[in-house]
Amino acid sequence: MPSEKTWQQWLERLYNLRRDKGGDYERPHKAILLIAILDLFDRGILCHNQVALSPELLKTFERYFEVVRRNDDWTAIDDPYCHLADDGFWQVLAKSGNQPLPEAGHSSRLPSMRVLRETYGRFDDDLWASIVTYAQCRRQLRDALIARYFPAHREELDTILGIQNSLPSALRDDPPGRDAAFRHTILEIYDHRCAACGVRVRVDDHLSLVVAAHLTPYKISRSDRPDNGLALCPNHHWAMESFLIAPCPDDGHKAGIWRVRAGLDVQAEGERDLAALENRPVIPPNEEKFLPAFEGLKWREDHLNTR
Ligand SMILES: [Zn+2]
Repeated sequence: MPSEKTWQQWLERLYNLRRDKGGDYERPHKAILLIAILDLFDRGILCHNQVALSPELLKTFERYFEVVRRNDDWTAIDDPYCHLADDGFWQVLAKSGNQPLPEAGHSSRLPSMRVLRETYGRFDDDLWASIVTYAQCRRQLRDALIARYFPAHREELDTILGIQNSLPSALRDDPPGRDAAFRHTILEIYDHRCAACGVRVRVDDHLSLVVAAHLTPYKISRSDRPDNGLALCPNHHWAMESFLIAPCPDDGHKAGIWRVRAGLDVQAEGERDLAALENRPVIPPNEEKFLPAFEGLKWREDHLNTR
């Protein structure tokens, strides 16, 4: 099996697949393409590091895509097939000559399907070796993609793959490095700033004061989506996980507002700072599409006064 560090690097890339800039909605195409490719491999349809735009791949892509698509999504495979080349582990090469297709990934105008049928996609050799050798690797990559992009569709996606005798999802192994990939994503989108007090300490690019917290806990939601996360300093992280404070939905603030458990003593020195958070807006992430999801805020609100 690949080392934990290698896994972590791949997962971080998969967690941060580059997407088109348009709008706030994260388009699902690249993640679905990867899931479709892993599926073909599991079924023995694919066995070389030459992933052609075959009818089987197109059909499998469409089946998965149907599960997650929104109304205005185009079921277009050529776009992710080419633009995956921006992510650093995939190349599109011409069948004749095996040369990288210069247009793929870099141009806003995609090559025609006629041209693309004469190409194949190729994974980074190390990643490919793991996909080929270890069924467990494929399973973990797939689980990580679903946790990150499609947690709400996990069961339907599993049904398509025909996963049999699978363990209940809560008992499945998580991919090594999953936490690190989530943390990296959340810290980036919150610019290493606590979403409660705004404190930011960052030294040498890898030392950061804040930690990444799930809104709805991972064991319940199985979701590593960025909108299920919040960056918090250790104090506010502890207070949120102890249900003393909670980010809650609010009509006036898209990222929500903080509420504080009833009964905190505003006179006591240690509790005063926490109590002062009441009604303060949650400091939002850098892009609107990563705003805390309503369900996660609601989960926190519902648990505020229950412990
Ligand atoms: Zn803080």
